[in-house]
Amino acid sequence: MPPPGHHAGPDNAGGFCLINNAALAASVLREKVSKVAIIDVDLHHGNGTQDIFYTRGDIWTGSVHVDPTDFYPFFWGGADETGTGEGKGANVNLPLPLGSDGETYLDAVATLIEQLNHFQPEAVVVSLGLDIHKDDPLAGLSVETEEFVALGEQLSALSPPTVVIQEGGYPTEHLSANLTAFMRGYLRG
Ligand SMILES: [Zn+2]
Repeated sequence: MPPPGHHAGPDNAGGFCLINNAALAASVLREKVSKVAIIDVDLHHGNGTQDIFYTRGDIWTGSVHVDPTDFYPFFWGGADETGTGEGKGANVNLPLPLGSDGETYLDAVATLIEQLNHFQPEAVVVSLGLDIHKDDPLAGLSVETEEFVALGEQLSALSPPTVVIQEGGYPTEHLSANLTAFMRGYLRG
């Protein structure tokens, strides 16, 4: 399993991340198509991904995460960060209250997917974080193992070709069950 990448910016590492795998994937895809979207459903805001594409209108970035006011990465991830210049409107943040349950989280993912579809990308990169689980040691959200099935179904409904990349997800006895549940939903959807 590679380390996560979404906290790594254009010229900085951070949050266990050295290389932004999702940004690399999106950049390679962008050579083939004109519009790419990155949807980040990890527990944490994908601040590196946001930073890399913040001024660009051809790569949309969206993230659902715990409100960073009092949670890593602290300085980025507010709903008012929407991009600048040509990137204005091509960045969407949906911060959630600390401890939110799976229903709240899945509703926010659905909202993010609606916004992504509005952008009409020709390819999508999913930054998947398994650290949304209720027993993850980073303790931010309360998503149950069975709810990973619904997450997989939601993301599999995206119509453009999609790459799924793993971001966070830290040791709990449920980690492999969570990934299996996600894949079950993803393959079924
Ligand atoms: Zn994370």
